[in-house]
Amino acid sequence: MRDILFIERDPYAPIRHCYTISKILYQGKSPFQEIQVVESPEFGRMLILDGVVQLDEKYEFLYHEYLAHVPLHAHPEPKNVLIIGGGDGGTLREVLKHDVVERAILVDIDKEVIEVSKKFFPTLSVGFGDSRAIVVNEDGYKYIQDYENEFDVIIVDSTDPVGFAHVLITEDFFRYVYKALKNDGIFVAQTESIHYHLDMVRTTQQRLRKVFPIVDLYTSIIPIYAGYWWTFSIASKKYPVRSPIREVKVQTKIYDADMHEYAFLPEKFYDKLVNGDYKY
Ligand code: SAM
Repeated sequence: MRDILFIERDPYAPIRHCYTISKILYQGKSPFQEIQVVESPEFGRMLILDGVVQLDEKYEFLYHEYLAHVPLHAHPEPKNVLIIGGGDGGTLREVLKHDVVERAILVDIDKEVIEVSKKFFPTLSVGFGDSRAIVVNEDGYKYIQDYENEFDVIIVDSTDPVGFAHVLITEDFFRYVYKALKNDGIFVAQTESIHYHLDMVRTTQQRLRKVFPIVDLYTSIIPIYAGYWWTFSIASKKYPVRSPIREVKVQTKIYDADMHEYAFLPEKFYDKLVNGDYKY
């Protein structure tokens, strides 16, 4: 079987990743986006939305473990968790590893992403079958406006902040998040790469600082994301976030108490980055 070259179409990055793939397993178009699933000898199966690789089976843990376990271990009792986006199920899988979680609501605008993930990514979509999981197909920006003092942790696991995902990095949205969180709630969102999206990281951090008393940034190195040095913006109403305050008992590939602390940027560099003193 001749190898196929897949070249990413990422309008949000200055480079194009190119992958050798052995076959195209699924090709479709939902009312929101083009959805593809391909098989790669090196990366395993890959989920692609509108031409941008969202995840691969081999390295997805580097993203989902950090996105879920840092906020959940910074909170003493995260019973009610909201995930906006995350239709592949990877973040939901990690959230449900916490026995303390009683309810995990996943709100993804596109139900077809969830169906495709259930069919082609069984190791990621395993959480959809958990009795604590509730799936809603709606725009997260609209959904969150109906809630006040409801959630312990809110996680945004969205596509790049363009198109229908753009609303998820606005100050309005962050104010709705603040209202929907309990008085000791924690918020986190994936916020792109330091190398190629520094302005967006800085703007998001500055918007969060207008809404939350505690705002910080941690990172993971993700081989399939343009810019690699991937950021997670975290905001907390009460608790410090740089160390876990609960013992780490969940089974993971890389996340643990040391890696939690190691993921945060040194304060001096973090301040330089957010205040604009760090430039290319
Ligand atoms: N892990 C990937 C990443 O880091 O880029 C993203 C995972 S997941 C596939 C992204 C999901 O966000 C998609 O399924 C998309 O439908 C969803 N999404 C984008 N904007 C949304 C919105 N406004 N409300 C709800 N879901 C949204």
